[in-house]
Amino acid sequence: MPARMIGMQVGAVSFLDEGTDHVLDLFQETAINTLFLAVFTYGRGIGGRMPRGSPLPDHGKQEYDDTYHGGNFATPHPQFYRNTSIAPQKAPDHPDYDVIADVLPRARRRNMKVIGWFEDVFRPDVPGLDQAFEVDIHGKPAHRVCYRNPNTRNFWLGLTEDFQRSYDLDGLMFGSERQGPLNSAIGASHGGAASPSTVGCFCRFCMEAARAEGINVDRARQGFIAIEQWINTLKQGQAPRDGAFVTFWRLLVGNPEVLQWERLWNDGLRATYREMYQKSHEIAREKPMGWHVWHTNSFAPFYRAEQDYQRFGEYSDFLKVVMYHNCGGPRLARYVENVHATLFADLTPAQTLDFVYRVQQYRNQPALDQLPVKGLTAEYVRDETQRAVAGSPARVAIWPGIDIDIPTGEHETKSTPEDVAQAVTAAFEGGAGGVILSRKYSEMRLANLRAAGKAVHAAPQPAGAQPAARQPA
Ligand SMILES: [Zn+2]
Repeated sequence: MPARMIGMQVGAVSFLDEGTDHVLDLFQETAINTLFLAVFTYGRGIGGRMPRGSPLPDHGKQEYDDTYHGGNFATPHPQFYRNTSIAPQKAPDHPDYDVIADVLPRARRRNMKVIGWFEDVFRPDVPGLDQAFEVDIHGKPAHRVCYRNPNTRNFWLGLTEDFQRSYDLDGLMFGSERQGPLNSAIGASHGGAASPSTVGCFCRFCMEAARAEGINVDRARQGFIAIEQWINTLKQGQAPRDGAFVTFWRLLVGNPEVLQWERLWNDGLRATYREMYQKSHEIAREKPMGWHVWHTNSFAPFYRAEQDYQRFGEYSDFLKVVMYHNCGGPRLARYVENVHATLFADLTPAQTLDFVYRVQQYRNQPALDQLPVKGLTAEYVRDETQRAVAGSPARVAIWPGIDIDIPTGEHETKSTPEDVAQAVTAAFEGGAGGVILSRKYSEMRLANLRAAGKAVHAAPQPAGAQPAARQPA
């Protein structure tokens, strides 16, 4: 076994399309020793084939799966979901197939480990999901789950328990690509633009939690409504007399409750992570559980400030910190566009990007006009790895997420064997105990995958670097 953890994110469709043994043989040839099996998601990020809009890779069925649905790709056992309204749905994409039951024994025979990988991406029509929705600043249901709602928490705890009791997996990884209401209001991510009118959560559970901490609910709501009005004014092309930034800061000091609400939201998410970690270790003490840390961590100082690796260490055995350098270019450009429309409207887009580079402490990265066509460099991967290793407790393994053929726009940068190899090498130079090839095998071209394998073999063995895996505390 290589001393390092070399992981691959892979979903059910690849084993069905190409044959389980064939896929596992290929992974072994490529130095991969750990599978991050997509076991629950309704999203296209880690499940299904390459989404339409990008060319299909040189393996797998040469057909887009536009009817992808998602759900649980193993077999949900109803007894674990008694305390939640959210229906445990088996993914109808492959009704007679249990990906864990198929892959786990074959992986074991090859001395490969299998980590169950799941994320909080739902379809809004999942039965019972509406009883877990957040409530926005205008009292309307938002089509995303509230982390303080017992239906949400019990669903994740049930899923954790189901995976740990029903299967002999080697560990679990969960990820939430969401952030608090203040960050969402100002559009501080590479996703959709600012949506200040739909942020939350003002459900009864969140309001109760706020009151218990002495936070004034009405003032928090007023603060968010003021932010909504500020953004609407900017959208109409009217610059506030004192500029966008000063006006925002005035709202913040006038209604500091919005910051408290941001913390409250994060506390709800962190408490869920903590409970999932405890549940997992109650059942299988020796099996690691860790978290996927969203790419916004690379772009937004606001989100980054909320991802305190030291605190993560209280309930993590490993962290997959996303460092997708190639798609990071177009994604960072989109982030700049989003926040330039709100908080940084006083700056030019180029100045906004310069601000990002400086506060995020990046060196030698492309100018704005080159960013979507060049991507971020391997130096970004090295620096981010070093920052994560230095910032987290020694017992937490850092496994950077490496970009191989993650979809980008038609005229935007694409993965090449050289840049994939450089990113893998940079992660090890930064002190990583392993890497996770992302975001899924069904998107990756074989030449790029082989380049990752070659870079793993060429990298010097760790001396004082992190071990492949650590035992939980
Ligand atoms: Zn809530």
